[in-house]
This record gives sequence, structure tokens and C-alpha cells, in this order.
Amino acid sequence: MNYISTRGAGIGERHTFSDILLGGLAKDGGLYLPNEYPRVSPDELARWRTLSYADLAFEVLSKFSDDIPADELRSLTRKTYTAQVYSNVRHEESAAQITPLKTLGVENGTTLSLLELSNGPTLAFKDMAMQLLGNLFEYTLAKHGETLNILGATSGDTGSAAEYAMRGKTGVRVFMLSPHKKMSAFQTAQMFSLQDPNIFNLAVEGNFDNCQDIVKAVSNDHAFKAAHKIGTVNSINWARVVAQVVYYFKGYFAATESDDERVSFTVPSGNFGNVCAGHIARMMGLPIEQLVVATNENDVLDEFFRTGVYRVRGASETYHTTSPSMDISKASNFERFVFDLLGRDPARVLQLFRDVEEKGGFDLAASGDFARVKEFGFVSGRSSHADRVDAIRDVFERYDTMIDTHTADGLKVARENLQPGVPMIVLETAQPIKFGETIREALLREPERPAAFIGLEKLPQKFDIVPADAQVVKGYIAARV
Ligand SMILES: *Cc1c(COP(=O)(O)O)cnc(C)c1O
Repeated sequence: MNYISTRGAGIGERHTFSDILLGGLAKDGGLYLPNEYPRVSPDELARWRTLSYADLAFEVLSKFSDDIPADELRSLTRKTYTAQVYSNVRHEESAAQITPLKTLGVENGTTLSLLELSNGPTLAFKDMAMQLLGNLFEYTLAKHGETLNILGATSGDTGSAAEYAMRGKTGVRVFMLSPHKKMSAFQTAQMFSLQDPNIFNLAVEGNFDNCQDIVKAVSNDHAFKAAHKIGTVNSINWARVVAQVVYYFKGYFAATESDDERVSFTVPSGNFGNVCAGHIARMMGLPIEQLVVATNENDVLDEFFRTGVYRVRGASETYHTTSPSMDISKASNFERFVFDLLGRDPARVLQLFRDVEEKGGFDLAASGDFARVKEFGFVSGRSSHADRVDAIRDVFERYDTMIDTHTADGLKVARENLQPGVPMIVLETAQPIKFGETIREALLREPERPAAFIGLEKLPQKFDIVPADAQVVKGYIAARV
């Protein structure tokens, strides 16, 4: 398996899975993809149906990472996907399944269900990939005798998932910037209660944009970056994407009885990481009918899939919504899909994403390529605050199930795309406790709180307050690595 950049750099060069694991963008600014997608044969699909999550993850990953010895990869997936790690289940029987499928009911002649991806340590689907990344990083760094200092900015979900994945890992430190006093009490407590010596929480006196700007400034200081071994774990990381491919297979097996059946998935989307994994599963041969992209009011992706126009938003056009983990101005993994849509033509991808930089977007409406979106199974929709409140209320009343705001966006859009006889699986991306305010608004009651999180906000917190100043942050890091 060789990896190439969506913008063409390195064609003819060799990049293995391990080579790109610790990096971000390719050197030409593109994103890494395998030079071709591995296919799953009917025999393999039949054999995979009965595997545990950990062993299924091994099978999927080994198709993409042939430079890690099989026995070592298998021990990494078995260490990652355990019932202990994904123990925050709401139904006693399901922890061992890692991603249990919860059937809601039959609507419009089809079964509607939720694939629970948020039973991990931080109660959001990002744990599914990030936990594996923690173990892969530790393994790879030890093999090469290296260390890595992860620098990130978070407004909630990503930062906590990264910290819980990297805590206690040998050779890795995490420096996570968050806007001081701007995260919810729950999310703050989740991160700041970690006492591990390799986790550093920096509460920045400013907003999330200031935090991101500091990360950019530090990353652009190439000398500092190299001297202090600075890396990231953002959503373009290839290993994160590929780890997410696994649960599309798991969800498919849970919703079907034979490999002749087809299913559709609806995916609450922001940076296009999660649904990009669904696209890859489909390209591998998983019988997926539709991939439904659900956005909130930040509808960059919905606009593209409806009209062929990709138009990134400025700061003033990016809304702060009640499904905040989908509040994006551009979708950082989208280029991977565009590469496939354009028949893997790196010169055209380069031109289009230059247009994004220079003109704020591109328009494929008139080109034959946009018509091919349907061949790839993609459709989309958007949701508003009122829609998600309605969906939370309706699912609670009808199915006695509490869903979070992001999953509610997914559910609303899924219902607009039901096809008789094709099971619809909505990916559940977080637990309701993380977004309690909207639950109280919709249901006039407190969100469910998993047992492990009782009293979380009362635990001692470890963090340092810093000004919104990249120099100060560099000094902070330099003093600790
Ligand atoms: C990150 C996140 C999303 C969006 O996922 P992408 O991979 O960025 O599309 C949706 N819901 C929740 C709860 C998230 O944390």
C-alpha cells in the first residue's frame, strides 16, 4: 500500500502508512490517500460478519497498513477496542459490542436505527479513532526511539478525545489550548480533571479563533516545530479517517442478515472526516446505498451536495450553534472526496483548492463531474436549532431515547431521505450530557449522565492560564519538553 497526495506530490515516491501516521498535510498542501482503495471480496465480507470489533478493526486496518507486522497490529486493535474503554453504555448488554446498534422503529417502510459511537471515555465518536491513534503513536514512536509533542486548539470534543487517548502514553505529550471560561462546565471538567504529567491544559485568555491562530503561528515557525518535535492530531490525519471505516462495516453487519442487503447511513458532518470514512467503506465494496451528509446551519457541505457550489465561509458567516462540533467554515477532509469525484486528477484538485484559497470556492455545477455525486451515493440536508429541538423531543417521546444535538441533526436529515426497504443507520456522535442546555430546553429535564461521570465537575482541576500570545505559548512548551 502506497500513499499519494491529492495534489500530486510524491507520485512515484514511496509513502507507507507509518510514514504518514505522525504527519499532517502532504508537502504540497494536499491530503494523503492510498494510491488505490483495497477491495473486500464477498468471501472476506462473509468472514468479517461475525468478528469482534477489535478483530474487524484489525482486518480493515491491515488492508491500509501493510508495513506494521500483523501480530503487532492485532495486539494494538485488541488493546484499543475493549469493553472497558467503551463502557459508557446506556444499555447493560451492549458494552462488548463497542458500537451497539439501537433500533428506534419502522418509519416510511424502513428500519431507522442509531449506531452508538459515543460510549468511549469522552462520550463522543472522536474516541473511536483517537483511542487507536494513541496506541499507534506510542507503538511507532517507541519503534523509532522518538518523542512527539502534540499541540492543538479545542472548543470541546477534539481536545478532550485527544487528551484521553494520549494520557499516560510513553513518548507523547499534549499541549491543548482552549478558550478560558468559554467551554461548558462539563467539557472543562472533562479536560482539566486529568492529572497525568504528560497532559498540559492551557486556558487562553481569548476565544477559540485566538487559540487556533496560536497553533498556526507555532506550526509556521518551522525551526521551533522541528526543535521541539511539534505535531498535531487534527481531523485530516489519515489514521483517524481509516479507523472510522471500521464502524461502517460493524453497523452494516448489525443492521443486516446477509451480504446481499444494502443499507444507508446518515452522518452528522462538519469537517467531512466521519463521512469520508463512509465513502471509503463504500469504495472498498461495502453495500452502502446512500451516504446522507447532515449539516447544521453551517451548511457548506449541504450547499455543495445540492448545487455543486463549494463556498467556504468567513468568520462572520460561521454561526455558533447548539451543535457546536459541526460549526465549521470549510470542511478540511472534503478534498479527499473531490479527488475521487474528479477521477483522481491531481492537477484539477490543485487548481480547485487554489481557487478556494484565492476566490473562496469553486463551482462544479456545470461540469459533468457533479452529476457523478449520485454514483458515489451522496445526498445531503441541513438542520436548524428548532429542528434539533423537535428531533430530540420526538425521539424521546416516541422511542424513549435521549439523543444529543448533533445526532438530532442527523436524525432530522435522515428522515428526509428514507427509502422503503433500505435500513437507515444514523451515526450517534455524542451523548446528550455533553450538550445539556439544549436537552433541558427540549425535554425540560436533565440529560442522562453515565455513572462514571457523576461528580465530574467537583474533581480537582489542573490547568494554566496564558495570554493569547504565541510567544508565551512557545516559552511554555520549551520549558517543559
Ligand atoms: C467532530 C464531531 C462531528 C463532526 O465530525 P466530522 O468528522 O468533522 O464531520 C459531529 N458530531 C460530534 C459530536 C463531533 O464531535
